[in-house]
Amino acid sequence: MKRVIRAEYAVVGSGAGGSVVAYHLAAAGASVAVIERGPWRHPRDLSHDEPAMIATLYKDGGAQTNNDANMFVLQGNCVGGSTVLTNAVCFRMPESVRRSFAAHGLELPADELGRAFDRVEGVMGVSPLPVDVHNPATAVLADGLRRIGAEAGSFQKAMLDCIGCGYCNVGCRYGKKLDASQTWIPMAVDRGASVYADLEIRRIDHARGTVRGLLARDTVTGEEVQVLARRYILAGGAINTPELLLRSGLHRGRAGKRTSFNAGGIVFGDFPQPLDGFDGDQMCVHHLTERFVIEQIQNPPVSLALTLPGFYGDHAAVMQRYRHLAALGVLVPTQPSGEVFLGLGHRLLRPLFDHADIRFRMSAVELQAFRDGCRTAARALFAAGARRVLIPSSKRPILEDEAALAHLDDALASQDDLIGFGSSHPQGGACAGCDPRRDVVDPNFRVRGIDNLFVADGSVFPHSVRVNPMLSIMATADLAVQRIASVRPPVQVQDGPAFRRRQRQRTALAP
Ligand SMILES: Cc1cc2nc3c(=O)[nH]c(=O)nc-3n(C[C@H](O)[C@H](O)[C@H](O)COP(=O)(O)OP(=O)(O)OC[C@H]3O[C@@H](n4cnc5c(N)ncnc54)[C@H](O)[C@@H]3O)c2cc1C
Ligand code: SF4
Repeated sequence: MKRVIRAEYAVVGSGAGGSVVAYHLAAAGASVAVIERGPWRHPRDLSHDEPAMIATLYKDGGAQTNNDANMFVLQGNCVGGSTVLTNAVCFRMPESVRRSFAAHGLELPADELGRAFDRVEGVMGVSPLPVDVHNPATAVLADGLRRIGAEAGSFQKAMLDCIGCGYCNVGCRYGKKLDASQTWIPMAVDRGASVYADLEIRRIDHARGTVRGLLARDTVTGEEVQVLARRYILAGGAINTPELLLRSGLHRGRAGKRTSFNAGGIVFGDFPQPLDGFDGDQMCVHHLTERFVIEQIQNPPVSLALTLPGFYGDHAAVMQRYRHLAALGVLVPTQPSGEVFLGLGHRLLRPLFDHADIRFRMSAVELQAFRDGCRTAARALFAAGARRVLIPSSKRPILEDEAALAHLDDALASQDDLIGFGSSHPQGGACAGCDPRRDVVDPNFRVRGIDNLFVADGSVFPHSVRVNPMLSIMATADLAVQRIASVRPPVQVQDGPAFRRRQRQRTALAP
């Protein structure tokens, strides 16, 4: 007989969206089952062994790409979802994006959204990154940006007592990063929620406009499991939520369409002096524009090697300069022109190949924005004193001096010319909005045509949120749970490590 999990609410996915929804429902007294495909790893299980951690924590071991294989798409596959892999960078949704979402029919009223951000930031301990964990390349890069007239901002981060080890993208083994696995998920469990790790929802069983249950498979034992609930909330993230809808025969022809990204690549500066940028937080300084975002990204050796241009001996020679390298990532917010779909492989090669396909090509306008971002980053690196700059090109990656910038457009002429191009910020694919012909999800986060099925993750965004999306997804999930279950979250959430820290500080200061 099949194992059955029963709850009032079943939440599929434990990342930025799912964890917030699960906490608020559990705190309101509902019985909640969180179903997560990936494993539950505690900080003590994590290490700085990059290949091992990438294989454990990333979807498809970090190997998910688009169909043309000229773009990687990184997502988490563990309790806490992609939040476990973040650099803890926190931005609020830009007001222009909030207005544009409203124009699509996804109303997130400014005052309600502001209160949701306050709550989320309180739980996530969002505060300025302390200067003492800045890596040594930061001051050099900030100086380079300023020299070319580009404002160099510092980041707000979700951390408590970070020691600046520089390995955020493989999870924090010291428990200092306040991702969902350290905050909302344990807080939800404390309030009575159950988390089922290593359990993948394979299909939504529905009939006559109602979900009757979810069909799941234990990813370790292969056992089949049924999940029965009153309401079902999909929070598997972009790519995965549309894939599950498509697998279940829901909204074929619409689900998966309108997928967007913050996508980009990395520009490296090779400096005469050792900078030892690995010795501190990976991301400390950034420069925001409307068309692109430049963010410092100082990767540990394996991740750096994977994104560095050049092949064989050339690649090895640059790796030998590891202590001298500083890097600026360039991200472009894309239009919702991507598509997730069940392709030929899915239809003909199951169970060998059982994945959704991703189709995405940057438009000419986006490609130009990416080139302009790379040009700005390269100028900043030269201004900071780099003796040469490496751009993410397979054709002509090395710029020996500023005059070589004249070749940058040609070196980055097409997406096929790019090395290390990708996205850690997929969004959309089950967009929320007011147009039933276009939007899979209605403005109250309900999947159209199904009375007890909802979506509360990054896949509801009508287009890219432009900045790093984690906090915007959490705040949107906070509003979603209010609409899905009429839950009224408190002004301030009085739970979690950041709250306990504030309480201790208050007690210590009391006369
Ligand atoms: C390397 C990296 C660095 C990043 N850094 C930042 C940063 O610094 N700041 C920032 O704002 N954003 C960052 N992001 C992006 C951010 O983490 C994501 O945008 C956000 O977590 C997405 O939230 P989500 O709820 O939509 O999905 P996710 O957080 O990805 O959660 C979805 C979860 O659902 C699970 N799931 C999927 N399908 C199923 C299924 N069928 N059954 C069961 N479970 C399923 C997945 O395993 C996953 O755990 C980063 C992302 C990556 C990959
Ligand atoms: S840099 Fe800080 S938050 Fe990131 S993994 Fe290291 S200790 Fe944790």
